[in-house]
Amino acid sequence: MNVLVLNSGSSTLKFQLIACDPSPDIPTEEKRLCRGLIEGIGGEAIIEVRAGMRAKQRYTASLPDIAAALDHLIRRISDGSAVEEGRGIAGIHAVGHRVVHGGELFAESALITEDVLRGIEECIELAPLHNPNNLAGIRASRQIFGPDVPQVAVFDTSFHQSIPEHAYLYALPYHLYRRHHVRRYGFHGTSHRYVVNRYGALRGLSKEKIHVITLHLGNGCSAAAIRSGCSVDTSMGMTPLEGLVMGTRCGDIDPAIVSFIAAKERLSIHDVEALLNTQSGLLGVSGLTNDMRVLLQELKEHDDHRVRLAIEIFCYRARKYIGAFLASMGGADSVVFTGGIGENSPEIRARICKGLEWAGLRLDDKKNNLAAGLEGQISTDDSSLHAFVIPTDEELLIASDTVRCVLAGSLSTELGYSSTIEAVRIQ
Ligand code: ADP
Repeated sequence: MNVLVLNSGSSTLKFQLIACDPSPDIPTEEKRLCRGLIEGIGGEAIIEVRAGMRAKQRYTASLPDIAAALDHLIRRISDGSAVEEGRGIAGIHAVGHRVVHGGELFAESALITEDVLRGIEECIELAPLHNPNNLAGIRASRQIFGPDVPQVAVFDTSFHQSIPEHAYLYALPYHLYRRHHVRRYGFHGTSHRYVVNRYGALRGLSKEKIHVITLHLGNGCSAAAIRSGCSVDTSMGMTPLEGLVMGTRCGDIDPAIVSFIAAKERLSIHDVEALLNTQSGLLGVSGLTNDMRVLLQELKEHDDHRVRLAIEIFCYRARKYIGAFLASMGGADSVVFTGGIGENSPEIRARICKGLEWAGLRLDDKKNNLAAGLEGQISTDDSSLHAFVIPTDEELLIASDTVRCVLAGSLSTELGYSSTIEAVRIQ
């Protein structure tokens, strides 16, 4: 089954066309029929497409909205110019959409129906910047493909719906949870889930035996505590702002700082929130960039104090969360690194793990240095807390969920059930 995976942003459309087996395993690279990114939707957009193993193509086109961008992409796929020979539009059997927020409505991925669309709409108030764009992508895609191509929503939040009440509730007046659904949801769920599945496969462990801390360290960063293969806590909260230090987000701060900065800098609460999201983190502390690779290079060449501080704060916070989760989940077997930084930076992994020897984690320097973008164990064999690097693959997880939902949906229709939001609504 060929699945088109879409991630629709405000002016971007990320896509991959993946050939999945009906019983999806890990497809090899040649099963990626095409992948790419359209940026600058709403004007003269930049399109980058890579068909299979061919070289990347980059060009521009005027694409006024997401519907036009998707239409353009489908034309490129159907005329064969964006995919390998012999695979046209007839080769798109299902579409999988990344949806940022599923609130408490979606604990699993869902075959898209009118009820599911209403559910995603209900969650707009929790993710006003993201869910409307995801919905626009879904609507455009349904318009283009019609009813014969099933579409599936895969939520960033659903993996964390297993977090228990005492870990997801904030110590605020309880009616704020009742009235406005104020609670921890967590994000990066597709990445954490992919990494957990892969870890189980690598170590030959059944889900019940997977007890790990996963660290997704990219531009956005989050940690998750995984007990028996399920998320029992995570560092991101009601929004992705809480927790670890990120590229431009501050992570944990004293909430009273918000009104203090608003008063001192004469900013609105909205402006302060924007400052915490877009001008803080690595960028805010270093005053230079949110790009970890550039910061590490800068540190090597100039040993700038603020650059060093940004890196130290980033690593200290990550180590602190590992310690907190080790305590809260009663120990773990491994810490698993993923995301652009987690996968590619031996130096950051070493800085985070330094000082965790008390917990039984000893990095194997040689293995750590070799594991740049590669999967494998980076701790010594005699460690009692291991460390692994597992490159994430969110698109693959979305594709395999799509296949699963489509097969389950066709089965339930055959059996006379209708696949509705009720199937995934948490009581
Ligand atoms: P996103 O969260 O936007 O998907 P990525 O997961 O691609 O982002 O992560 C981007 C981050 O990964 C950037 O800070 C980038 O500098 C960092 N990164 C990528 N490669 C390396 C590397 N070799 N060493 C250090 N950092 C790296």
